[in-house]
Amino acid sequence: MRVAVVGAGPAGSLLGHDLARAGVAVTLFDASHPREKPCGGGVTGKALALLPEAPPDDPLPANWLESCEFDAGTGDVVRLRLERPVAVCARRDLDSWLLRRAVAAGATHRAERVTMVDAAGLLRCADSEHQFDVIVGADGAGSLVRRTFLSPVPPERLMMAAGWFARGTSSMKVQFTPGLEGYLWLFPRIDHVAVGICAPLASVPTRDMLARLDGEAVRHFPALVDADAGRYAHTIPSLSSEPRSLLEIAGPRWALVGDAAALADPITGEGIYYALRSARILADTLVEDGSTARYGQRCLEDFGRDLLKAAALRDRFYAPGFTRRMIAYAARSSAIRSVLAELVLGEQGYVGLKRRLLRAAPRFAWDSALAKLLRTA
Ligand SMILES: Cc1cc2nc3c(=O)[nH]c(=O)nc-3n(C[C@H](O)[C@H](O)[C@H](O)COP(=O)(O)OP(=O)(O)OC[C@H]3O[C@@H](n4cnc5c(N)ncnc54)[C@H](O)[C@@H]3O)c2cc1C
Repeated sequence: MRVAVVGAGPAGSLLGHDLARAGVAVTLFDASHPREKPCGGGVTGKALALLPEAPPDDPLPANWLESCEFDAGTGDVVRLRLERPVAVCARRDLDSWLLRRAVAAGATHRAERVTMVDAAGLLRCADSEHQFDVIVGADGAGSLVRRTFLSPVPPERLMMAAGWFARGTSSMKVQFTPGLEGYLWLFPRIDHVAVGICAPLASVPTRDMLARLDGEAVRHFPALVDADAGRYAHTIPSLSSEPRSLLEIAGPRWALVGDAAALADPITGEGIYYALRSARILADTLVEDGSTARYGQRCLEDFGRDLLKAAALRDRFYAPGFTRRMIAYAARSSAIRSVLAELVLGEQGYVGLKRRLLRAAPRFAWDSALAKLLRTA
């Protein structure tokens, strides 16, 4: 079986790595390396667990963080200690590290941009033409492969994320601001900080979002206001709450992984885990079955129901007052803090969240009563 992977971001490179290790002839097409991708670069524990083992002389280049600050934007702030560290990586470093793992495992990398693919397995670049048994789109949010075999992701399923990379350092921070169906973030990397903001594409023009980020930065983290740093803006695609939006991501000789398949969390924008996880599931399916037929269903059973649930919950999460209450409760109760910390680490899914919060309720009531008593005393 000859497999072409269009795009060598996290999804494409892990797929190349896994297929090559299983003895499949796999070619990765991507002309962009080395490059930075607009991204926070936050890699949660569940994503880290999917990465290939790091060789002793080539460790994963990351800033390891054990706490995260949540700011409701209305005075309530809570600092969460994370049981396991989160890695924050420059995408230039993470993506080239992953590509090195794929090539070391035996994948071929061609530094070429793909200009055409078809259902018969033909793939064209500017100066070359190739024939494959399976073509995989790992080519990100604007995927050419997706546009060829499916329709583009509709605007109501796109989040816009914008920001800049600032010199300096900070703690890891997520800040909500009233009236924004999204959040601001500071993600400190090894030698700079990713400063960003995100919200649904249709909810606010990108230039207004950037102006808001600038304003908040001047007020709350002036050291990271860097007028010389270029501003970026990039979309994050996600599923709808309908299973069909996931089951459509593969056909007889093609499949999509990562952002090309619209596999990001519609509430947080986390996409690196889903890029890696979908790549692993597709590699296993291709190796076991020699076909893509069961891939969509396997994604649905693995992480898909959680993403569909997140799509259904999104509006309620960003409804006025919800994030403010969540942070105020977390500030008062260790039980709510631990649910929030597990959400950050990606260890608490959206399916089962309500049950988990109900289980935390007696402890929350006790913590609140105790806090009130202490205040009165
Ligand atoms: C501002 C922002 C902040 C984010 N922050 C986080 C975060 O902190 N944590 C997190 O988990 N997720 C985050 N995400 C989401 C995350 O960046 C994506 O979900 C993730 O990069 C998806 O990986 P991928 O491999 O599917 O696609 P990509 O990383 O987009 O890689 C696609 C690759 O395909 C290549 N390509 C495209 N077209 C072609 C072509 N025609 N031929 C050849 N190659 C091609 C591109 O050059 C690129 O290298 C963020 C997204 C944005 C926009």
